[in-house]
Formats: sequence, C-alpha cells, structure tokens
Amino acid sequence: MSEPSIFTRILEGEIPSEIIAETDNVFAIRDIAPQAPVHLLVIPKTPEYRNVVELAAGDPALLTEMIGLANSLAAEHADGDFRLIFNTGAGAGQTVFHVHAHVLAGGLAEGSLGG
Ligand code: AMP
Repeated sequence: MSEPSIFTRILEGEIPSEIIAETDNVFAIRDIAPQAPVHLLVIPKTPEYRNVVELAAGDPALLTEMIGLANSLAAEHADGDFRLIFNTGAGAGQTVFHVHAHVLAGGLAEGSLGG
C-alpha cells in the first residue's frame, strides 16, 4: 500500500484544514495556495482514483457528485460562476495523485484559460 495522500490525512484529521463542505462521498477544503479570489478543492473521500480519467471510467456518479458540490460552493462563496480544473499527470501540474477538482471563482472573467 502506498502512503495516504495529503487529502486522506486531512479527512482523517491528521493534518489541520477546515472541511468547508461534505456529502457522503465528497468533501471540500480551501486550497492552501490560492490562485484565484476563491480557490477550493473538491475531493472524493475514497483515494481509489488517481485522476479524473480513472474516476470517470470507474465511478461516473462520484464525478457527478463532485461537480454538484463544486456548483453549490461557487454559489455560496462567489456569484455562482466557476472554473473547474483537474490537473491530470505530473506534466500538467498534478502533484497530489488522489483525484481532486480545483474550483476557481470570483473575478475570473478577464482571463481566458488559466486566467
Ligand atoms: P494539484 O497540483 O492539481 O495536484 O493540486 C494540489 C493542490 O493541493 C495544490 O493547489 C496545493 O496548493 C494544494 N494543497 C497542498 N497541500 C494542501 C493543504 N495542506 N491544504 C490545502 N491545500 C493543499
């Protein structure tokens, strides 16, 4: 077995971070290094899927649940509009191999992709 991911350690309370929302299968935290006025991470509780491609193939309902939580958080923390990013692979900037969605919101309209 590999080491638990940083997100599993947060979920289990080993690393301090406020869980700002959760459902049965998904939770959300604030990104420690925000890249937008609102920058949240939506994460499945299971560490089973390393990236969004594996998740989409293995459990599309869980991916749908993540998107639903991202949508509600964007409404709660910003004006409802948001950008959803899944870095997939180290070459694309993925550093944590426990699938997670970056939810960026608040004042993004001026930028195009990547702001
Ligand atoms: P990625 O680079 O797409 O794998 O995203 C990993 C994200 O996790 C980065 O944006 C980090 O800033 C964020 N991150 C790493 N450690 C923590 C932490 N302890 N609390 C919140 N966010 C974190």
